[in-house]
Amino acid sequence: MGTLTVLCAIVLLGAYAIIIPWALLSRMVTSIKRFIFIIETCIFRLKSKKPISVNYHFTRRCNYSCGFCFHTAKTSHMLSLNDAKRGLKLLKDAGMHKLNFAGGEPFLETGFLGELMKYCKTELNLQSVSVVTNGSLVSDRFLRIYGKYLDIMAVSCDSFSEDVNHEIGRGKGNHLRAVQKVARLCREYNIKFKINTVVNFYNWMEDMNEYIDELKPFRWKCFQCLLLPDENSGDATIRDARRFLISDEQFQIFCERHKHHESFVPEGNDVMVNSYLILDEYMCFLDKDAKVQSKSILQVGVEKALEEVRWYKDMFLERRGVYDWQRNIKNAGGDGCGKDLD
Ligand code: SF4
Repeated sequence: MGTLTVLCAIVLLGAYAIIIPWALLSRMVTSIKRFIFIIETCIFRLKSKKPISVNYHFTRRCNYSCGFCFHTAKTSHMLSLNDAKRGLKLLKDAGMHKLNFAGGEPFLETGFLGELMKYCKTELNLQSVSVVTNGSLVSDRFLRIYGKYLDIMAVSCDSFSEDVNHEIGRGKGNHLRAVQKVARLCREYNIKFKINTVVNFYNWMEDMNEYIDELKPFRWKCFQCLLLPDENSGDATIRDARRFLISDEQFQIFCERHKHHESFVPEGNDVMVNSYLILDEYMCFLDKDAKVQSKSILQVGVEKALEEVRWYKDMFLERRGVYDWQRNIKNAGGDGCGKDLD
């Protein structure tokens, strides 16, 4: 019995001797890679005039009808897969590191979306690929095939009351179930889970703390509802967001209530305008404030098209546009860097 105890103790000590240094070493490697990532982002800040992060709204179609929609279904146009790939390659060559797929609802076109996500990771080696969705069409099947090509999934959620969601036009009483499902799938597939909230007349008084604690997004962006002349604020636009508007003070009250969350990133109207590089369904850049659409990058190239719109890099940086945007490290098959996933 005594010999057995001694033997067990020796085996346990041996195991500790191997496991502890290994855990330390792996943590050190992760820290070094994180440090390199931070240095890289600092270099962007100092010298980049490049389209570091681009939002590609490849479709305007959507299955929801949010009253303040910022990118409405004015056309049903979509590029061919080959043209879209050609445009993404041009952007990569011009300095793009992160691509965000947006809509409309990107998951209405799962084949197109999945193939482009794969292309961005396996061919272009982009640091980060993300998608913004209303969550209603995200499926386990899609993520089983394409989840490894996705770093971040952002789901739009403006309220934790289905009555308010209904009032806004987000779903028909089932939106919160969709949000929870996306959060669960992101955990399962090691994709960073993000929430986007539009703070507006119907939710600025809401206390969302309990739900944010529960869902634990790595980033929670809260936008102040914005009027855009070509999308949601004229007699000729598909949507009219005027009834959703709030004052800066009301937005501040909402922010005060939630600012203690580490994930909280507020964006007032002043920061939002022209701090996003928006590429539309024709691969033209949009300056939404000035109602300007550049020529397509497929015709004139990225540099020329960029000259036609206002895009303020300083604003982009001010709103913390560069952040840790690579997928979760745990079980991701490497350091969480997209390049190592393929
Ligand atoms: S889900 Fe997004 S794209 Fe669809 S209507 Fe709402 S705001 Fe617009």
